[in-house]
Amino acid sequence: MDITELTVHELQEKLKNKELTITEITKAYIDRINEKEKDVDAFVTILTEEALEETKNLQKKVDNGEITGNFAGIPIGIKDNICTKGIKTTCSSKMLENFVSPYNATVMEKINSENLINLGKLNMDEFAMGGSTEYSYFKKTKNPWNLKKVPGGSSGGSAAAVAANMVPWALGSDTGGSIRQPASFCGVVGLKPTYGLVSRYGLVAFASSLDQIGSITKDVRDCAMLLNIIAGYDEKDTTSEDMPKKDYTECLKNDVKGLKIGVPKEFFGEGINEEVKTRLEKIIEEYKNMGAEIEEFSLDIAQYALATYYIIACAEASSNLGRFDGIRYGYRTPEFTNLKELYKKSRSEGFGEEVKRRIILGTYVLSSGYYDAYYKKAQQVRTLVMNEFSKAFEKYDVILTPTAPTGAFDIGEKSNNPLEMYLADICTVSVNIAGLPAISIPVGLNSEGMPVGMQLIGNRFKEETILNVAYTMEQKLKFREKYKPEFK
Ligand code: GLN
Repeated sequence: MDITELTVHELQEKLKNKELTITEITKAYIDRINEKEKDVDAFVTILTEEALEETKNLQKKVDNGEITGNFAGIPIGIKDNICTKGIKTTCSSKMLENFVSPYNATVMEKINSENLINLGKLNMDEFAMGGSTEYSYFKKTKNPWNLKKVPGGSSGGSAAAVAANMVPWALGSDTGGSIRQPASFCGVVGLKPTYGLVSRYGLVAFASSLDQIGSITKDVRDCAMLLNIIAGYDEKDTTSEDMPKKDYTECLKNDVKGLKIGVPKEFFGEGINEEVKTRLEKIIEEYKNMGAEIEEFSLDIAQYALATYYIIACAEASSNLGRFDGIRYGYRTPEFTNLKELYKKSRSEGFGEEVKRRIILGTYVLSSGYYDAYYKKAQQVRTLVMNEFSKAFEKYDVILTPTAPTGAFDIGEKSNNPLEMYLADICTVSVNIAGLPAISIPVGLNSEGMPVGMQLIGNRFKEETILNVAYTMEQKLKFREKYKPEFK
């Protein structure tokens, strides 16, 4: 048995039956990281020593019955923009290269209280800005399915590490698609929860009205389980929603009979690769055969979503990143003669190209002369996007689209063309604008042998519906059993 092939629920089964110990699990993952990390480059910080030490202590407690939790000793990887006490949180930026957070993000408190083992911090586009993980200050993560291709982004390290079996599951963050798009590129499952379901406390902010932490896993059941751990009200996050706790695994019914699925035609038009379309059309047929009702409709406003997203996201980023000035936070230039120079040099040297581009764009759209023309208009369009989704959800239980317009592209193919890179988010950004939950699952491979993802969008706090619809297709397709990354 290859331990690292197993899902978390399979690991739990084996732990329960005493076929495995948590020490064996941790060791298997450490071996796997030692074997594959040189090819994949998914980690910014590897915590194998610490993980072993922790496992030793935990094993004792488990053996003498002090700890009985379901998740004790299960490893996890964490995107490097989620604050981890005593461990570096770099956001893959020179600005935070040596930043050690003095506190834990709320999700980390939850992970720790379940006694999960943190195997390390995962690579990302700098400050989560990007769609390929090429904008990391440290390294470029490779796609395990083809090492010449990007893993997607910005949570590319998280998705690649899960796909490469270097962690059984991982946390990512999603502002405009950064969980779903890399999940789609790497053939794994990614969920962006409803805005407000998971606390953002301790997530280094990119665009606060869009950011949300979520899960990247091998299958839908694991996805539901990880959501069980991280979801919930947090008084430290004022946008956190006070909702009754749910068990998200209870909704996995493997049945979509009578469910209404809306298919917005704008997501199958220009710019979407033919192979992706054909693949999804087959999936839609499958859902019909399973007894779901499918209807095509128009989500006309979607054509403005990308522009709206980049205005709002950059505006908020320019404000959020103001704190990195070399005094209060972040890298400080070694040489300066006055205060202004200190600011200027610290920020010029500490931030990468893409981050600077966003700060400049954001500052521009917020400037008094252009505020009404861009920022205010974008906020108005945001309301229209929300309204159109609300209207759609009066008719449909879920909305089905591709996750990304193409499969994973080559390293270097888009990194010098920001507009091209932004277009990779065309299917995902409207979900963040409207604050909705959405999941991506793999539904096949394209002719290059790269995974193709399907996105299912739900109404606010209807994670259960999309999880079940995703689960039902997963059971039918058996993608994981059929296909494996080849690291070639
Ligand atoms: N790729 C998008 C961007 O660059 C989304 C990023 C994200 O979701 N963090 O903004």
